[in-house]
Amino acid sequence: MRGVVLHTPGDVQVEERPDPMIIEPTDAIIRVTAACVCGSDLWPYRGVEKLDGPVPMGHEYVGVVEEVGSEVTTIKPGQFVVGSFWASDNTCETCRSGYQSACVHRVLMGTIGTQAERARIPLADGTLVATPGMPDADLIPSLLAASDVLGTGWFGAVAAQAGPGKTVAVVGDGAVGLCAVLAAKQLGAERILAMSRHAPRQELARQFGATDVVTERGDEGVARIKELTGGLGAHSVVEAVGTQESMTQAVRSTRPGGHMGFVGVSHDVSLPGDELFFSLVHLHGGPAPVREYLPKLIELIANREIDPGKVFDLTLPLAQAAEGYRAMDERRAIKVLLTP
Ligand SMILES: [Zn+2]
Repeated sequence: MRGVVLHTPGDVQVEERPDPMIIEPTDAIIRVTAACVCGSDLWPYRGVEKLDGPVPMGHEYVGVVEEVGSEVTTIKPGQFVVGSFWASDNTCETCRSGYQSACVHRVLMGTIGTQAERARIPLADGTLVATPGMPDADLIPSLLAASDVLGTGWFGAVAAQAGPGKTVAVVGDGAVGLCAVLAAKQLGAERILAMSRHAPRQELARQFGATDVVTERGDEGVARIKELTGGLGAHSVVEAVGTQESMTQAVRSTRPGGHMGFVGVSHDVSLPGDELFFSLVHLHGGPAPVREYLPKLIELIANREIDPGKVFDLTLPLAQAAEGYRAMDERRAIKVLLTP
């Protein structure tokens, strides 16, 4: 089968890879209907994360089950399925507490590489959620968004305790930040402040429910959030970038007693203990337990109540994956959908 391999930073190739096979009796094999390029794929692409030789890429996927192992009981061949970027058993104590991304048996799908024609899905019964019937083609981008960016934005909004009566600020206008805006709206937030300086992203943020757009960043961004919140800061802040600047901006934009959900993959961030101490801010974040939210998200998408697939503003055939990476790296595209 053909799949994306990152050889060295900037060198994305689509090449023949071994066909996936059932290895564990709990595995399933899916034919990938759609995959995509993630903001986090850009870290190794840009050489920020070290590469030890060529690696298969991709951890977001939707597809049709082709084959299941002997111990798979609920997932069946022919089903259309959505899964998260962590394979998880969904039965261990950590999973049952709602933290499937820290499952004691978890497998990172990025090590398998779903930017490919087919993929092996470990722990299929726990990892995969089947859609009600075969989805209409126009729902596929939204279902793919649920696989990562929507679930991650949702976790960010939940971690920030977005809800009725709350003012929610979102730091980061990538696909996750935009989905956090959508999530905050769904969770009933009263006011949603999207921090973005890119017109097309501001427009999408407004479509997803942002009531205000803040174009300032850093200290000026913090000052603007305070100005919009009676000098206090937001009740809830979602951080969806993962840099020192965005984390600092998020902490300082949260009011005392408020909640900050941080879901941008953290890179070289250090927060001063004294500032955290005096901030009186609740912090919660990490790799999102997307699996926890998938049934709800799939239902909202199937009922056409949300349309997170709008974050995909470029669709390319798998063979042109390299162009997809370039477009995201240069911020010409918010998110790129790949069709094998
Ligand atoms: Zn588990």
